Amino acid sequence: MADINLTAVEKHFDGVPALQSITAHLNDGEFVALLGPSGCGKSTLLRLLAGFETPTQGAVSIGAAEVANAATGLAVPPEARNIGFVFQSYALWPHMSVRRNVAYPLDVRGISKADKIRQTDAALAATGLQHYADRMPAELSGGQRQRVALARCLVSAPDAVLLDEPLANLDVALRASMQDVFSDFHDRTGATMVYVTHDQSEAMAMADRIAVMSEGRIVQLDTPEILYNQPRSKFVAGFVGEGTVLPIGDVDHSGNMVQARLLRKTITIKTDTQSPNLICLRPEHISITETGDLRAEVQRCTYLGGRYRLTLHLPDGTPIQAESRDRYALGTQLGVSIKAPWAFTEV
Ligand code: ATP
Repeated sequence: MADINLTAVEKHFDGVPALQSITAHLNDGEFVALLGPSGCGKSTLLRLLAGFETPTQGAVSIGAAEVANAATGLAVPPEARNIGFVFQSYALWPHMSVRRNVAYPLDVRGISKADKIRQTDAALAATGLQHYADRMPAELSGGQRQRVALARCLVSAPDAVLLDEPLANLDVALRASMQDVFSDFHDRTGATMVYVTHDQSEAMAMADRIAVMSEGRIVQLDTPEILYNQPRSKFVAGFVGEGTVLPIGDVDHSGNMVQARLLRKTITIKTDTQSPNLICLRPEHISITETGDLRAEVQRCTYLGGRYRLTLHLPDGTPIQAESRDRYALGTQLGVSIKAPWAFTEV
């Protein structure tokens, strides 16, 4: 079992907080992405799990073992935590062949030669590297090098794997295919994985849950679907997925549906709070109809393949995003109706 527990973790550098009030439970075998803008503390949190940093306050445990505790001064070093790392820079030994790089964690453990060959072959096959075993790292592409780093992780059978923007150096097409490699790796090993990225589509594609971070805090830790459909703050609504956050008023909970006022019109909303004051309007909440309650003007029409993305201006000038099967000329006046967007409270 390698669940991960962070309890009231703070990390300060020269008195400046990089992580604040981090309390989170990551389940055994879960793939969790740490997502947020540059400087929000993702790498610091990962380095703390790895043991390269110690918390200023709070405690960290991996599985049954506490690995760091600011109050007692406990700080288990990285090599004594059963974890694997995959970095952007691959961190391969340049003078060793692919096979020797992959076998390296087994050399250090001192197991029998036959077991070493068997386990190394299995890791090479699992990452599609069996034909590259004798090459040197300099003779490989970026994607292949990242596979070597994964294969090396696989042989060491870690309880948890920590990945810091491992695809950042790769081109877009290779990133997509490597996402499948990471997902396969996760299915195969059942390891708990913590994956740092600032790319929301990457996090959405792979993670069971995403911890969205802002200014050193985890602002929401939820499945990709919940983050998209039920954001709890303007920051999460804006950072995950497309859409616009707008203020609403006069929320009415009587009857079967919750209703609110938006630009002097009544709309139906979805919410789990008594007095929401904001809605998150995604393109799928907006339909273009002759009889739409609100008027909107087409400002931009972009072809996405099979459909168009429209930027529309509401009567007060607020831009919203919609989708349509048809192309519209700029300046066209349309009727739009709004179907049950998510509403939440933010002070
Ligand atoms: P990026 O996406 O740019 O890598 P990040 O979310 O991973 O950013 P961190 O690298 O964790 O962010 O940095 C969080 C904050 O802590 C930043 O303000 C950074 O300047 C600061 N910081 C990180 N490491 C140190 C350090 N060793 N000494 C001083 N400040 C640090």
